[in-house]
Amino acid sequence: LSLAACSSGGTSTTTAASNAPATSAATSATCNVGIAMPTRSLERWINDGEGLQKLLQADGCTVDLQYADNKTDQQISQIQNMVANGANFLVIAAIDGTTLGPVLDTAATAGAKVIAYDRLILGTPNVDYYATFDNYGVGKLQGQYIVDTLGLADGKGPFNLEPFAGSPDDNNAGYFFAGAWDILSPYVDSGKLVVPSGKNPKTDADWKAIGIQGWLSATAQSEMDNRLASFYAGGKKVDVVLSPNDSLAQGISQSLQLAGYTAADFPLLTGQDGDKASVKNILDGVQSMTVWKDTRLLGQRVEMMIKSIMAGQTPEVNDTKTYNNGVKVVPSYLITPEVVTKDTVKSKLIDSGFLKASDVGL
Ligand code: BGC
Repeated sequence: LSLAACSSGGTSTTTAASNAPATSAATSATCNVGIAMPTRSLERWINDGEGLQKLLQADGCTVDLQYADNKTDQQISQIQNMVANGANFLVIAAIDGTTLGPVLDTAATAGAKVIAYDRLILGTPNVDYYATFDNYGVGKLQGQYIVDTLGLADGKGPFNLEPFAGSPDDNNAGYFFAGAWDILSPYVDSGKLVVPSGKNPKTDADWKAIGIQGWLSATAQSEMDNRLASFYAGGKKVDVVLSPNDSLAQGISQSLQLAGYTAADFPLLTGQDGDKASVKNILDGVQSMTVWKDTRLLGQRVEMMIKSIMAGQTPEVNDTKTYNNGVKVVPSYLITPEVVTKDTVKSKLIDSGFLKASDVGL
């Protein structure tokens, strides 16, 4: 597909595009993209936003990239402005997936196509495609890592586990937790995993009760501090912490280190994102793994979707069942995540150019 198909005001249109109704924004020669990202406070969103912006600008698109400081109202008004400024594509990583219905009604009326980025947008018909990673798969990788590393399938245990979950307003957080808990809960039931704090949801659906609002490291740290003080007095040791992502893992790791755990006796601690600070912790033995989601692939996927729509084609998807947003099943493209441990930081993260050796002190 020619890049010119995505070029602002360009003269090149494909046959498919010129055969399509002139009124449809999807086949317009204009490529005016609003990218709404949640926050700059987590490294991944900076990489996501700037990476996608570069790809689309190189295709000749006009791009408005905005970050909303994790504030829902701010994100809504940013999207409103994008629509008012003529965006014909919106790429949105929602802060709270349930709050965007009204602004997306306006976007639909204006003819904009909406791609949910990484997180699903809920409760509206006005979301055309969803590009993400296999979110349930992320949780499964975390759970399976714990099972394999502790030897649970070989009957080892019991081990003390502290589970954490992500932000209750983030639709992904439920998938992450369910993926991990479906693997771990049989061992909780059999007594091979014990949860001294009692903060173990009985069902997947109870995960919100232990969710860390806004995915804040500091909140995860104080939650871990509280659990250590209340349930681990008298020398009891934490063996494993299920953390859904790196921002939480960083706070939890800090708490454990301040409580005296060192690399020599550090509990297993999971994560997600391949965040620099967490990769450093992995190399230092104070986090065990991260589930790496190569956000460059996600950006390329969205770029492909936009180009297909511009050309009057239907973007390729690989999942048309999983992501029901309450109004419709949103056609999705899921990318496969992978585990990175100390042994694979170099081969996976550095050699692929995702991180620089100097970023992580190598
Ligand atoms: C993303 C994770 C990220 C988390 C916190 C989730 O929706 O999928 O990659 O760690 O949000 O920003």
